Amino acid sequence: MGPPGAGKGTQAAVISAMLGVPHISTGDIFRANVSQGTPLGVEAKRYMDAGEYVPDGVTNAMVRDRLSHDDCRPGFLLDGYPRTVEQVGELNAMLSSAQHRLDAVLELTVDMDEVVGRLVKRASEQGRSDDTEDVIRRRLEVYFEQTAPLIDMYRSQDLLVQVDGLGIIEDVTGRIVAALSLEA
Ligand code: ADP
Repeated sequence: MGPPGAGKGTQAAVISAMLGVPHISTGDIFRANVSQGTPLGVEAKRYMDAGEYVPDGVTNAMVRDRLSHDDCRPGFLLDGYPRTVEQVGELNAMLSSAQHRLDAVLELTVDMDEVVGRLVKRASEQGRSDDTEDVIRRRLEVYFEQTAPLIDMYRSQDLLVQVDGLGIIEDVTGRIVAALSLEA
């Protein structure tokens, strides 16, 4: 977990490879659908381009489908999901029916100036259609309204592991590896 620009996607790719489990990024799945022009992509793009969350029903069904694939049986790393209280409820139901449980919820902490700076830089490098200034502001608002409260929920369940997301990529990875007690 962490606001847009915290580095979730970058770190999730490294950590999932280290653990040998699939990296399931809802943002990446939405973007792949947008670029292939699927009905899901057409629906998702309207929300993404406005900085809003895709409706829970759409997102939950997509994650449910993805988690049902065989490669998820040994475990998986979720990136960008759950982001709402309703998604947490749905995820809990999916986990219990698959006899899985969360091992940890990782939060990357970053300050707002750093996050905005990173997103503006990414906008100029990658040209993501949701990285314009107005949309970035909205995405941060939505994160603080809808997703930040989940952090306290996971803290109270003793699942939360917080890692400082500032600094170079390799240093952040090192902190995550240490915090989760993974073998490098
Ligand atoms: P970021 O973390 O930088 O916002 P992502 O690639 O994770 O980027 O997500 C991009 C967009 O995809 C979000 O702004 C949102 O519109 C949509 N999205 C991703 N995950 C979810 C989710 N769990 N629920 C609803 N919408 C989502």
